[in-house]
Amino acid sequence: MQTRHASARAHPDPASAALLRAVLLGGALSLASWACAPGQAAPVQVAPVQAARSQPDPLAALAADSAFVLEDLRWLSSDELQGRAVGSEGSRLARTRLAQRFADAGLEALAPGYEHAFRFTRRNEAEERTGVNVVAVRPGTGRPGRVIVVSGHYDHVGVRDGEVYNGADDNASGAVGITALARALRGVPLRHTVVFAAFDAEESGLRGARAYVAEPPVPLDSVDVNLNLDMVARTAGVLWAGGASHTPTLRPILEDVASRSPVELRLGHDRPGAPEGDDWTGQSDHRAFHEAGIPFIYLGVEDHPDYHHPTDDFERVVPAEFMDALRAALLTLLALDQALPPSGR
Ligand SMILES: [Zn+2]
Repeated sequence: MQTRHASARAHPDPASAALLRAVLLGGALSLASWACAPGQAAPVQVAPVQAARSQPDPLAALAADSAFVLEDLRWLSSDELQGRAVGSEGSRLARTRLAQRFADAGLEALAPGYEHAFRFTRRNEAEERTGVNVVAVRPGTGRPGRVIVVSGHYDHVGVRDGEVYNGADDNASGAVGITALARALRGVPLRHTVVFAAFDAEESGLRGARAYVAEPPVPLDSVDVNLNLDMVARTAGVLWAGGASHTPTLRPILEDVASRSPVELRLGHDRPGAPEGDDWTGQSDHRAFHEAGIPFIYLGVEDHPDYHHPTDDFERVVPAEFMDALRAALLTLLALDQALPPSGR
């Protein structure tokens, strides 16, 4: 979580836009038709999407997948990835795994390897850095031209004073969480096109999300809402949903989810003018969408003593709390898909 600003420019090429238009117009192209430029990441093999004979139950699929999801959380927040600082080897390992998970879920890539690189410069630094967002698309069936962006940043702060900051809650939980949602939805037709985005460089000032909004691989005016997951593991029984104060038509959708959620879902932390630190509207990647006038729902937990400490480790995650939070996130995505519009743009 961070609050600083910066300008970032991504450089999607024309072919991405062409592929995107095809996806949005419901014509998902297979990855094989994508020619790789020299030096770009090798394309990931995409599993063919099987036509669903009987509609699978995504909530049951998520529950059945819990051991796999937890192993991904353990690995993404392991010392091996050295805190996933932007530009690091750990960051590269993390996004390769996330891209493979998107491929395993049958999602389409808009760029080779699902990777969208962008350049940025940190405040008070001269050196230009490269971040890489991992972005995948799932075409909709009912309203394919309308888009829900499901996001969670995968970077963390790396190593400080010789200590690895593994960021299990912040935000290995959200990055792994969105891949778990994608997998649970395999074979489930949704009305909306869903873009899954694992943003990079959130800890450097929401840079990946700002790069996405500055050079959107999907037209921004086709996006109905951003559902952002940042710190969704350490709930202690309460998960917050922010955004309804800015978009009141989201409130009944969230209240309905809260009535069915296995974890207590509280609406709030989004009131402008609230006491310092109480309004989370600007505290994670959803801010970039909010500033572009796009409604958002932010799912996250209260700060805990391990937040941005080297003790934010997998061992401190209660597996049932994390899986319950993901179930609430999946219920939210399904409810949005069913309920939109009324606030559709
Ligand atoms: Zn975070």
